[in-house]
Amino acid sequence: MSRFTGRIAIVTGAASGIGKEIALRLAAEGGTPVIADLNLDAATATANEIKAKGGDAFAVAMNVTDEAQVEKGVADTIAKYGKIDILVSNAGIQIVKPLVDFPFADWKKLLSIHLDGAFLTTKACLKHMYKAKYGRVIYMGSVHSKEASKLKAPYVTAKHGLIGLSKVLAKEGAEYNVASNVVCPGFVRTPLVEKQIPEQAAELKITEEQVIKNVMLKDTIDGQFTTTDDVADAVLFYAAAKSTVHSGQSAVVSHGWFMQ
Ligand code: NAD
Repeated sequence: MSRFTGRIAIVTGAASGIGKEIALRLAAEGGTPVIADLNLDAATATANEIKAKGGDAFAVAMNVTDEAQVEKGVADTIAKYGKIDILVSNAGIQIVKPLVDFPFADWKKLLSIHLDGAFLTTKACLKHMYKAKYGRVIYMGSVHSKEASKLKAPYVTAKHGLIGLSKVLAKEGAEYNVASNVVCPGFVRTPLVEKQIPEQAAELKITEEQVIKNVMLKDTIDGQFTTTDDVADAVLFYAAAKSTVHSGQSAVVSHGWFMQ
């Protein structure tokens, strides 16, 4: 028996980057990830990659900001597997601009994906977790759940907000054996970060190399990027928790960028 044998795990934003790695790792340890993503073609490709290795996975189209799509993805998962053991609320975007110029529409878009998405997926999964008296919910936070950076007002706001949501769920979920945690990575070289490097260089009027060295990795202990594998290790630790002992806590995975 592997750690996740028989476990059904919805992972949002699992068609790319960190979410994809989490889905692959869950499957490698016997679990069935439900690849819930805006991009159905990429989600299906990830599910097929897992099936080609002999695992099981299910791709669903889901915009996490749309309540009807979230409810449908969860209902389709229940229809296929009868339960949801794990939710990894991971879908996210980044928009970098100075606060003074931040368009209200971009502020609302970012908050909606990170916070509405976390709320809607949590609410939809909880009904089933409470009935089963089992659930492990992990939110993808960031060092920006604890710390601020210039140009990232809605991102820092949203990532701090996830800590609050997770703490409430820890309290409400405990009697149903539902645990809640936040994993807070430093910079990971996914498409989300690759896009930011030239954008930050333009905003800060420095080179891309300087963005990496003097902005992104400046405060790490060793100048290293965090990897998707490092983040998946922390997520799987909480997803496999035998009890609610760790519930309500968050883990920073950042090469010492932020030390709590
Ligand atoms: P990514 O761009 O590689 O992947 C994000 C995925 O989310 C994509 O597949 C995209 O299609 C999906 N997505 C976007 N909007 C969606 C929506 N409305 N509904 C459903 N799916 C949606 O990004 P990533 O770097 O893997 O980021 C994943 C999470 O990790 C995000 O929450 C991000 O904030 C967080 N994070 C990333 C880093 C980093 O350095 N990359 C650091 C800390 C935290």
